[in-house]
Amino acid sequence: MLKVNACAVCGYDVRVFRNGHRKVSPPVILGHELCGEIQSDIMVGNGMSINAGSRVAVCPLIPCLHCPYCQAGDYNLCMNLKEIGSTSNGGFAQYVTIPEQLIRIGGLVPVPDSLTDEEAALLEPLACCLNSVSRILPVAKQRSVVIIGDGPMGLIHLQLFKRLSSSRVAIVGKVPSRMEKSRAMGADAVFAYSPQTVADVLDFAGASSSGAGAVVIATSNPVAFELAAKVSGKNSKINIFAGMPSGQTFLLDVNWLHYNQISITGTFSSTPKMLEEATRIAADKAIDLSAIVTHKYSLSEIEKAIDVTEKYYGLRAVINKF
Ligand SMILES: [Zn+2]
Ligand SMILES: [Zn+2]
Repeated sequence: MLKVNACAVCGYDVRVFRNGHRKVSPPVILGHELCGEIQSDIMVGNGMSINAGSRVAVCPLIPCLHCPYCQAGDYNLCMNLKEIGSTSNGGFAQYVTIPEQLIRIGGLVPVPDSLTDEEAALLEPLACCLNSVSRILPVAKQRSVVIIGDGPMGLIHLQLFKRLSSSRVAIVGKVPSRMEKSRAMGADAVFAYSPQTVADVLDFAGASSSGAGAVVIATSNPVAFELAAKVSGKNSKINIFAGMPSGQTFLLDVNWLHYNQISITGTFSSTPKMLEEATRIAADKAIDLSAIVTHKYSLSEIEKAIDVTEKYYGLRAVINKF
């Protein structure tokens, strides 16, 4: 049993709340970005234990532990995956029950004192961004990076690329206050999405290159895919980080992929190892999660938190009173 200290409102929560989702059969309590206090001592494997009262971040995966992906440690790809906040009750509540499989895969990660509860709630999304960045980091270290999306996930990607590479990073956004924040967080260029954007980004990538080296799609807006294809240079990598409306398809010129050696990848969620890594890098404040938390509400005000999330006010809203 975990007493919830903070749980952040993800765009996913809002989509499920408004429109439902194929993964979710109501009634279920949403909320998968959470930090809480362990209510009794537990063994977490390798002779290690976490004592009652310790704060932990949660990797919200409940894997089957038997399928080939689980055997390989890729629990986020489990063929029978269940998740806290989707198929099992989540963090928008005073307490959450943690299933045994989650503990067995190391899904509870102790939170260092240097992080607040609200920052610790964002360790899960940070871990998801680490998964994304790991797919394209080699090319991102060499060449220009473009992040499509100026939301909290886009800005965490921005911080990660600025920390892990010395490449120039551009953000393509839509919300003036978020684009302003991108500049403050070190984006080398910020473009408002418009018919001019392709030309702007190609210019940013440099006249001597054929386009950007690494592109991340960190928005659910389907126009992002076409934009990513148009601004990607030869030998580039595009990672699709965000979920899109279900049934979304794209037409691709196969020869464009072939002759330009383009790689398109996707990443979903993260593993407990990535959550541990996220905790390490956030602990020394190299990644500033506090800048991502812009609204705090009590559980009784959750509809306000959902409202600010879908209106793109600020960045992340966190529930921190229960
Ligand atoms: Zn999320
Ligand atoms: Zn499995």
